[in-house]
Formats: sequence, C-alpha cells, structure tokens
Amino acid sequence: DEEGSGGEEYLFKVVIIGDSAVGKSNLLSRYARNEFNPHSKATIGVEFQTQSMEIDGKEVRAQIWDTAGQERFRAVTSAYYRGALGALIVYDITRPITFQSVSRWLHELQSHCDTSVAMMLVGNKCDLENIRSVSVEEGKSMAETEGLFFMETSALDATNVNKAFEIVIKEIYKNVS
Ligand code: GDP
Ligand code: MG
Repeated sequence: DEEGSGGEEYLFKVVIIGDSAVGKSNLLSRYARNEFNPHSKATIGVEFQTQSMEIDGKEVRAQIWDTAGQERFRAVTSAYYRGALGALIVYDITRPITFQSVSRWLHELQSHCDTSVAMMLVGNKCDLENIRSVSVEEGKSMAETEGLFFMETSALDATNVNKAFEIVIKEIYKNVS
C-alpha cells in the first residue's frame, strides 16, 4: 500500500466494449465529466478516466477504459482487458447488428478476464424510442441467459448512465471486500 496512511484504498479497472458508434465514448464522458459530444470522432490512443464514489464510507476509484477505436478491427488487445474487474458491454438499441455482436464481445472478454468480472449489458440510445429495433425484452432476456446486469441508457439525455456504472462498481466492491 503506497499510501501508508492505514486507510483502505480501492482502485478498480472497468472496461467498456461493444461495436463502433454504439456510444461507448459518450457514456464515459457523460459519467466522468457530464458531457455529450454529438460529433465525436473515434478516440485516438488508449484512454481512461478515473471517477470516485463512496461505498460503505470508503473512497472507491474506478479507472474506466475506452477502446481507442480498436473495436473497428473487431477485437481489442489483451492489454486493454488486463486487470479488469468490471465491464460494460454496449449495444445500440436502434441497430440490431450491434446487439448480435454482444455474444462475440462477451466471449472475447471472458477469454481475457477471470470469471468474477462484474458485467453489465447496456442498451444505449434509449432516447431514440421512435427508431428502436431491439426490444427491452430481448435485452433483458440475453442478460438473464448470460448472467449479466442489464440497463438501457442514454448518453444523450443521461438516463441511467450513472446508475449503470455505479451498479458495476458496487458489484466489484462486493466481490473484493
Ligand atoms: P463509440 O464509437 O462506441 O465510442 O460511440 P460514440 O460515443 O463516439 O458515439 C457514436 C455516435 O452516437 C455519436 O454521433 C454520438 O453523438 C451518438 N450517441 C452516443 N450516445 C448516444 C445516445 O445515448 N443517444 C443518441 N441519440 N446518440 C448517441
Ligand atoms: Mg469511441
């Protein structure tokens, strides 16, 4: 413990995965900075942001990683997954193909991480109800089958974004404490 103050410290790595343009970078910027960018370009270089929350009176920091656009090549490197204790697997509720990719992302995640990773299936862009193409039931059903938490979010209007990250972080805390 580098701190040496006797206080307990928690730092958890969380990764965000899913197809291109599902809203991964905007979910992170909404959570970490309360910002949304309608014209976001693919991220250059591996990026993470750290966000703190309090659980049981303890400061817990989550280091949340964004893919740097690697997902366009349908895979991200093992360094990205290394040490991850939590993951958000994101699809876009208006594009069924991104929902079909979830099982592939899950498989990649599970081949790089150990089994106790806290996982949340995230159906993003729920503000676009008028062009929805994946039902809430389909999302729920996949989450149940795969043993994942499930939430629909909107990085645009901030619906459930904090909640999705916080559920994952609390679950990690539960797993390690
Ligand atoms: P990434 O490639 O998965 O990191 O996706 P981005 O965060 O770059 O978002 C891709 C596009 O979707 C951008 O044009 C965003 O503005 C848009 N977007 C992201 N989240 C939402 C959302 O919740 N609702 C809507 N309507 N658009 C979103
Ligand atoms: Mg991105």
